[in-house]
Amino acid sequence: MTRVPLACLVAATVIVGTAAPASQAYRMPEGASSVDSAAKGSVEAVQGPATTTAGQPSEEITAPAPSAVAPIHGASRRWGGKVIMIDPGHQLGNATHPRQVNRLVNAGGFRKACNSTGTATNSGFPEATFTWRVARALKRQLRARGATVRMTRSTNSYDDWGPCIDVRGRAGNRVNADVMISLHGDGASAGTRGFFVIRPSNRAGWTSDIYRSSARYAHEVKSGLVRAGARVSSSYGGDGFDVRGDLGTLNWSDVPAVMVELGNMRNARDARHMMSPHYRKHRYARGLRLGIGGFLFNR
Ligand SMILES: [Zn+2]
Repeated sequence: MTRVPLACLVAATVIVGTAAPASQAYRMPEGASSVDSAAKGSVEAVQGPATTTAGQPSEEITAPAPSAVAPIHGASRRWGGKVIMIDPGHQLGNATHPRQVNRLVNAGGFRKACNSTGTATNSGFPEATFTWRVARALKRQLRARGATVRMTRSTNSYDDWGPCIDVRGRAGNRVNADVMISLHGDGASAGTRGFFVIRPSNRAGWTSDIYRSSARYAHEVKSGLVRAGARVSSSYGGDGFDVRGDLGTLNWSDVPAVMVELGNMRNARDARHMMSPHYRKHRYARGLRLGIGGFLFNR
């Protein structure tokens, strides 16, 4: 599709089949099993991001353990036992690992680049860092309510890359998550602003099991973000939704999954919001949490 935000969701190109060396072993999401139970054809070996620690500073996860967070009265009974998989989008170091990131993977019955670099604001604030910070804020809010939260990457570092879209897509399946949410920032023309929610189309053998639940989930996420004060995108039809069949992150999921483009990083006002810790916490993260809760509890 030509209306894809190029800088964000697709970049892709070069084929490189070289396996990552042992020193770049994929760091499994917290609590993840090494066994992949996906029943979607042959599952490729996991080849993930480098996790070296030297060089550029990385933002390690600092969210406190659930027991260290003040419990929110009454919430733990609802959220307790719920497992949320957060995909904080592109790794910061994707841009410095083109060979690894351009490797083609199975994106849902077709081949596509492992990942892309993501976009940035005009001032250079990277999409990877934006989504990482929203993901951590969302994680804190969910854990404070008693939910179990897993993430597809555990660093935001120029030294790391990936994981690939197929690994992201299967991440929720691995931990039997109740939902998966993938966070992104758009890189559309400067005149476009606002968020939109991408849900999977119905692809036989891939998303036929989750497209209905994901559609309801998408509506709840949109509602949550609107309730929190975020603005719906004027593009993509203006209803805040897009439906895609070409995204490995959604195609591989066996649990309800959506991808959210939280704002347009090239738009000056969106960029200000996306760089604001207050807006990230009270609009984006809170809105996403309301949306996830809406889907899990408003039945
Ligand atoms: Zn993106």
